[in-house]
Amino acid sequence: MTAGASGSIRVAVMEGDDIGPEIVRSTTRVLDRAAQQHGVRIEWIPLPAGIAAVDTEGSTLPIRTREALPDIPGWILGPVSHRDYPIGDARYVNPSGYLRKNFELYSNVRPARAWPGIECVRPKMDVVIVRENTEGFYADRNLIDGNGELRPDLDTVISVRVVTRRASLRVARQAFAIARERNGLRKVTCVHKANVLRRGDGLFLDCCRQVAAENPDIAFDDFLVDAFAMRLILRPDDTDVVVTTNMFGDILSDEAAGLVGGLGLAPGLNTGDEHAMAQAVHGSAPDIAGKGIANPIAEILSGALLLRWLSRVHAAPMLVEAADTVESAIAATLARGESLTPDLGGTATTESITAAILAAVDAS
Ligand code: NAD
Repeated sequence: MTAGASGSIRVAVMEGDDIGPEIVRSTTRVLDRAAQQHGVRIEWIPLPAGIAAVDTEGSTLPIRTREALPDIPGWILGPVSHRDYPIGDARYVNPSGYLRKNFELYSNVRPARAWPGIECVRPKMDVVIVRENTEGFYADRNLIDGNGELRPDLDTVISVRVVTRRASLRVARQAFAIARERNGLRKVTCVHKANVLRRGDGLFLDCCRQVAAENPDIAFDDFLVDAFAMRLILRPDDTDVVVTTNMFGDILSDEAAGLVGGLGLAPGLNTGDEHAMAQAVHGSAPDIAGKGIANPIAEILSGALLLRWLSRVHAAPMLVEAADTVESAIAATLARGESLTPDLGGTATTESITAAILAAVDAS
């Protein structure tokens, strides 16, 4: 199906925990309005995911959700509070980790750029962190049976870290494709710790070098993660696209977000060959849940990334135009500075900043 033929696309929506429902509802409203402006109707398919689904359906990721997702290419997931999910209770699956691993959403693409009107540490920064998303140190996705954290006795824990050639090559290829599409330095930087993790990160670095050789038009360099963490702060203009393993990418993307205005502005898209899932970098922010002050922008920008990805699936260039409209409306809202949520130094609510973004969409 192309959106061009039917004018309609389907997107799955999973609201998640804590601030998840608040920011996901803002996201669907803004994407709806922008898509309509470009002649596309989005049919939202709500699917349960998160703690609320344990009471109603017996799992944080019910069978109904798992069975519906394969037929829908694009999904939105709100943040989940998985640190609070009890260990060893089979009803509490981490939806985020499960979906990334089991649907082979192998790269987590996390752009970090400064926005006009938002004071930040690094106003010229514009980078994309491409994080391997299916293995590495994340114990919940490392074994076919059981968990990759083992406790041989009460005082000892062994964590299994997995690095495979297949996962490393495909995430590296994704990073080079992004560097080619972007209007940036056309450079990929591999970040690793191959001096200590000589086999695991050694394999990852070898794979990145192999893909670099396949893409001679894109510059390539590599850094140890500790040196790179400092370099990103001191010389962010030298970085374009970063490719790295799961945990380093998780940490570096929060660092990058901190340099350009904070987690409230940090979007992410989990991509595979068949599916993509929009998901902000931040967590479920239990400290502000229910107060109506969560910043929805990171989730909305994640939705815009999803529209761009879906434009290829549906051969629908108007979805790129809709994503441009969303991003321009957010830029205009931030630049005006009247409707900023408390994380950005203002007093706006989730509702009032959403209304301001909708008005900016209408005005575009
Ligand atoms: P967090 O990202 O939820 O919050 C860190 C700080 O940033 C808090 O002060 C919070 O109020 C603020 N913040 C985050 N998002 C915000 C937003 N949209 N608007 C305004 N302020 C925002 O990190 P945490 O507190 O360490 O984790 C809370 C829960 O989220 C944990 O259970 C953790 O496991 C989970 N988590 C989930 C994801 C995900 O679903 N993708 C990612 C990270 C953490």
